[in-house]
Amino acid sequence: MKLLYLGTAAAEGIPALFCECEACQRARALRAKGVRSRAGAVVDGILKIDFGPDSYRQMLDNGLEYAKMHSVLITHAHEDHLAPDELAYRRGVFAHIVTEPKLMTVYGNARVGEKLAGKTGEMLAFEPFSSFETKQIEGYRVTALEAAHCLSEDKPTFPVTCRGKEWHRSEEAFIYLIEKEGKRLLYAHDTDELSPKDLEYLRGKRLDLVSLDCTNGVLVSRWVGHMGADLNRKVKNDLLSIGAADEKTVFVANHFSHNGFPGTEEIQALLPDFLIAYDGMEVEF
Ligand SMILES: [Zn+2]
Ligand SMILES: [Zn+2]
Ligand SMILES: [Zn+2]
Repeated sequence: MKLLYLGTAAAEGIPALFCECEACQRARALRAKGVRSRAGAVVDGILKIDFGPDSYRQMLDNGLEYAKMHSVLITHAHEDHLAPDELAYRRGVFAHIVTEPKLMTVYGNARVGEKLAGKTGEMLAFEPFSSFETKQIEGYRVTALEAAHCLSEDKPTFPVTCRGKEWHRSEEAFIYLIEKEGKRLLYAHDTDELSPKDLEYLRGKRLDLVSLDCTNGVLVSRWVGHMGADLNRKVKNDLLSIGAADEKTVFVANHFSHNGFPGTEEIQALLPDFLIAYDGMEVEF
């Protein structure tokens, strides 16, 4: 399996749209080399993960052909992971698709379905996923696990346990376990540390690649609902202790914010045994 990282920043990008902080100015000075676009990835050039506002530019930069892709897994409906208006360009006079089948199916939670309402049809379909459900998609076995993300303490919806506490979520956010021919990928963006239910599900299932949210970067556990380098290390240890990882498992830190990202070297120093994702990085495992 191959995982290609198309975008490796949090919602506002690096450099962030309107930001003049030190990290953003440094990234701006580096031009293309400093850019981290909004989250997205593709497995084996076939299975798209998330479709955010930078999908157009990512298509150009990586020589992708979205007409030839038929399945998109959406992690959650935050605007950096789902740009419904961009997906709508698959329809009508906006796209003359020759490749069969013409239909692209978007998988996600109920909120994703709501955001795609009025945009689906002959070329674009929505199929709901729920937590701990498994589907066969493009020859992969895909399981939606629960993400500790979109957290709130007041709304009585979609409970999840995280940092030793019960939370509710404004939507049923997912991380995805993707399996094929004995290989396993865990794509965990956006999320806080893995929930006890996720860890139970993953017990004894050895993962080959684990991609972890690192939005907090060098800031120790600042924002709940995301991880930083400290929690990336904790999750690695959690997975090792339940037999879901071993010394051969590749760990990647990804989804960075300018608020906790002084630079790649600073993150690498905190996570010496991790790959630090960048736009265009491909990992084969
Ligand atoms: Zn995000
Ligand atoms: Zn900034
Ligand atoms: Zn998010």
